[in-house]
Amino acid sequence: MALLEVSGVTVRFGGITAVNDASLVAEPGSITGLIGPNGAGKTTLFNVITGLQAPTAGRVRFKGADITGATVDKRAKMGMGRTFQRLEAFGSLTVRENVQVARDIRSGARAWFRRGADKRVDELIDLVGLRKYAGQRADSVPTGVARLLELARALAIDPALMLLDEPSSGLDEAETDAFGSLLRDLAARGTSILMVEHDMDLVMGVCDYIHVLEFGQVIATGTPAEIRADRKVQAAYLGFADDPDVAPVPPAIAAEATAILGVPAAAETTLSMLAVEAERR
Ligand code: ATP
Repeated sequence: MALLEVSGVTVRFGGITAVNDASLVAEPGSITGLIGPNGAGKTTLFNVITGLQAPTAGRVRFKGADITGATVDKRAKMGMGRTFQRLEAFGSLTVRENVQVARDIRSGARAWFRRGADKRVDELIDLVGLRKYAGQRADSVPTGVARLLELARALAIDPALMLLDEPSSGLDEAETDAFGSLLRDLAARGTSILMVEHDMDLVMGVCDYIHVLEFGQVIATGTPAEIRADRKVQAAYLGFADDPDVAPVPPAIAAEATAILGVPAAAETTLSMLAVEAERR
């Protein structure tokens, strides 16, 4: 049984269909990527899974239970953790206190009666490699550290499924690599991960499965190798220009497109040249 099962989800905002009959699964102990060009519907679908957005149609199942109408809180209690693209830590608290608060919230009223050392807080801080920052205020740490703090806070509820929204945003290459290793480590320990991410090196490097959205629809599902080789995916990433013969690869998609296609793009590379090169390989 899949840990998470999204079936036939549609979301309409007035006349806009942001997500159109999308289905996907996340398997236990695996890392699943949700990718697609800007405006493809990734965030909207993610919000449906986490409970921030009610779908117009379709169902979401988690651990076999239908959670389509469940509150965010209920989902968290069932073992769904999440991080946000925008960092959400309490700035005036230390790194350690931030993780402690997340533990306290999880424990509810009971926490007020036995506030003391919580071994798990230190375990989580060590797990994400933040021991040396534990006593620093959250608003004084660099972005890379804040991302890891967010992860530790989300892990404080001991989630079966962790939903990550653009976790590499603001990280440099070395930090992204380290973050990828940490995700693999978490998956090996049994925490499933579903992430929306634009950094294709990270996605291709760590995901077991990838779902590709375009115009709200899932156009491809498969392993990183299958996704790279998929013609529909290549077209989705190449279909940005009015005239692909003369338009240079837009900077915003160059890294993403070339990583998917496995071919490098120079400043003067056109989308057609990329497509031909991808075909040749
Ligand atoms: P990006 O990669 O740029 O974050 P995305 O794949 O996450 O994009 P969404 O943010 O889900 O895409 O948007 C999908 C479509 O739905 C877009 O056309 C967007 O303008 C539209 N949309 C999203 N949220 C709303 C809303 N609250 N009201 C109206 N339209 C919306």
